[in-house]
Amino acid sequence: MKFASRLVQFDAAPGDRLRPTSTPIYQTATFEQEHADRFGDYDYSRSGNPTRTVLEEQMARLEGGTRGFAFASGMAAITAVARTLRTGDEILADSDLYGGTCRLFTRILERSGISARYADAGDLDSFATKITPRTRLIYVESPTNPLLRVIDLRALATLAHANNALLVVDNSLMSPYLQLPLELGADIVLHSATKFLCGHADVTGGVVVVRDQKLAEDIYFLQNAEGNALAPFDCFLLLRGLKTLKLRMDAQQRNALAVAEFLAGDPRVERVFYPGLRSDPGYALQHRQATGAGSVLSFTTTRSAQAAHAVAEQARMFQICVSFGSLHSSISLPGCMSHASVPPEIAISRKLPPELVRISVGIEDAGDLIADLDQALPQSILTPADCGLATQLAEER
Ligand code: PLP
Repeated sequence: MKFASRLVQFDAAPGDRLRPTSTPIYQTATFEQEHADRFGDYDYSRSGNPTRTVLEEQMARLEGGTRGFAFASGMAAITAVARTLRTGDEILADSDLYGGTCRLFTRILERSGISARYADAGDLDSFATKITPRTRLIYVESPTNPLLRVIDLRALATLAHANNALLVVDNSLMSPYLQLPLELGADIVLHSATKFLCGHADVTGGVVVVRDQKLAEDIYFLQNAEGNALAPFDCFLLLRGLKTLKLRMDAQQRNALAVAEFLAGDPRVERVFYPGLRSDPGYALQHRQATGAGSVLSFTTTRSAQAAHAVAEQARMFQICVSFGSLHSSISLPGCMSHASVPPEIAISRKLPPELVRISVGIEDAGDLIADLDQALPQSILTPADCGLATQLAEER
């Protein structure tokens, strides 16, 4: 079956003799056992819950893995993957990462003697020189967030395996509809399911999918032992959102391209970061390893944080919010929102432009969205004097 069919054609309630067509919410913590010394399929919802099983199996199928795991958030999913490491192990990550991931790697893992280092995975030769015998995980997002750089996942998987490391790909920006990292050689694919998988901004969740059985057992052990699995009602909402993943992403991506083309042609915009534009340096690679560029893009106005701030405040249809992937359009300033948690020493080396604006394009009418950005962009190009605030804002960050 093609992806569109697989999104809706699956057993919604395995073993249920009433054959509901929508997955029931098994809102129960415990399952009665027939015998004191024998467990049935389920005994305790932290260890397993039928609503969660349907979601986890569906995600494993969609990502082309053998097992999936649903967590209470994207960060809980990333934490579980990081927990497979031991003291002394090292993560080598791309330098353009979600701020919370950076915070986890740098501020929390180091408490257990696990270190993280960052390098530009877009420059494979230089990235390879940063691998050490202690590197266990290579961790990337592609396209990266928020600069939308495209990383060669197949080449990176080969590099990771040649060095006895695993490749982890955060696929939140793409979803399995647009990109299948496991097929490209990655060992672990994970998501902030809060984003496109849910699509309606009404669930905080995370997903991990792997192919290797031993790795799957380790992730399951951690999920059960640490107790951070997704609750049944949230699993139900995610299953419901997932069914329209293709419809939503097709519409959002179409709109994103129209918006990107508008921005790229507007003199008030300095640069658009979107691998869906033919002029983008990542265009060819993106279309080799994924079937589209998604619907998140970034741009800079006239080198001024003040102008970026004004665009976000002036836009009416783009809600100011930290997340992305919802069917509502949203706008954010990564420097002071989603990426403000990047530890300062790393923020400096990442050179995130304070004037960067990130938008997530929704399913609204593309003409309306463009008209809204048109009125939100500063009416005249700012002079250098106007840009004084940029430095001030950057320092405050
Ligand atoms: N990965 C990416 C790319 C994200 O943007 C985010 C959150 O914004 C996360 C992971 C963390 O996910 P969550 O907020 O669901 O914990």
